[in-house]
Amino acid sequence: MGETVVAGSDKSPDTFGGCCADLNEALSGADFEPLLSVGEDGDLYLSVGLIELEDEEPGFVDHPMFFCSFCGTGLQSPDEVRAKTKDPS
Ligand SMILES: [Zn+2]
Repeated sequence: MGETVVAGSDKSPDTFGGCCADLNEALSGADFEPLLSVGEDGDLYLSVGLIELEDEEPGFVDHPMFFCSFCGTGLQSPDEVRAKTKDPS
């Protein structure tokens, strides 16, 4: 027990952010609201814009992030995301 504790991070899973400090910082978002987020299924999402919903608050349009935007490391494959989200499309 206690082996999953990551210094300076309270809840970011160590599956993402381990490739470079920039992504790690973007995910931890200590000084800003990050547009990167790890979904409930465990995949990494990048918010690409806002969508206006009728009678609702504007929502973020998220897209799975397959490669690190900072160093280019492959983070997850489309097949992995599909398997995790079980999206039939
Ligand atoms: Zn990276």
